[in-house]
Amino acid sequence: MTTGGAARVAAVLSDADAVTILCHVRPDPDTLGSGLALGQALVALGKRVEVAYPGELPLPSVMAALPGSDLLVAAGKVSGHRVAVSVDAATLGRLEGLGAVFSAADERIVVDHHVSNPGFGTLDFIDPSSDCTASLVLQIIDELGVELTEPIATCVYAGLVTDTGSFKWARPASFGIAARLLEAGVDGAKWSRLLLDSHPFTWFRVASAVLADAELVESAFGGAGLVYATVPNDLLTSMAWDESESLIDLVRTARDAEVAAVFKESEPGVWNVSLRSKERVDVTRVARAFGGGGHVRASGYSATGTADEVTAALLAQCAE
Ligand code: MN
Repeated sequence: MTTGGAARVAAVLSDADAVTILCHVRPDPDTLGSGLALGQALVALGKRVEVAYPGELPLPSVMAALPGSDLLVAAGKVSGHRVAVSVDAATLGRLEGLGAVFSAADERIVVDHHVSNPGFGTLDFIDPSSDCTASLVLQIIDELGVELTEPIATCVYAGLVTDTGSFKWARPASFGIAARLLEAGVDGAKWSRLLLDSHPFTWFRVASAVLADAELVESAFGGAGLVYATVPNDLLTSMAWDESESLIDLVRTARDAEVAAVFKESEPGVWNVSLRSKERVDVTRVARAFGGGGHVRASGYSATGTADEVTAALLAQCAE
């Protein structure tokens, strides 16, 4: 494993004829925007590019509308080039079935901003001081000498605006990057609305059912408090996966609790757990206790069992 910056990554990519770019499972706008921005930049340099994410599910319509989505290849149709780039995946496991494609490449480049990322490539460009992976991709694009066009800038913006919650927790550097993206022609108002502020009307019913059953545990985390909600499989499968991602943003608004958790039953008995904290609790420590990871204020893990079992396991952990 070598640790390098954007220039090292750009040097390897410049020498490649063809590049496979891999996004993490249940892609969010940061991984997909990173993949499509880098993909378009490499196409501009005359390289062959394929971008893929694991699984067979179609992309939510908003993400499918991002520029460069014509570079997407179904997971089962990936050819696997000699140079592969993983974007925004904190572990090889986040690439699921495409992890084998990544591992088979000669040059394996990891680009990510998760503090929990141990590094799993032949060249790791991991910078937890960046608000999003897309900003790191922008550094690579600059090193490649590719012009920041409006389509490329739009994909970078998609990652930046969503991973900063519409800049609510953006660090200073992100505002400078945002200014540059808007000057490149990005319609910031449109993409912010599409990516963060729009839901199908049917989502109202689902969200209200989830909120109605939310629980508050004031004693958790030494009295800091935990609010949590569960989304059973039948409810979860009634909405697109990006719709379910936004439930945590509702639950974490409870001012009575420092930590928020949403349990989503992706398959019967299999749960994806999202954790958020406000100011004090490091939720990577909680997530790591269950084999997950992420950021200090936003982490996640997987669990198996009944709703009662998985919530009880978290309650036991945060009582310590
Ligand atoms: Mn990210």
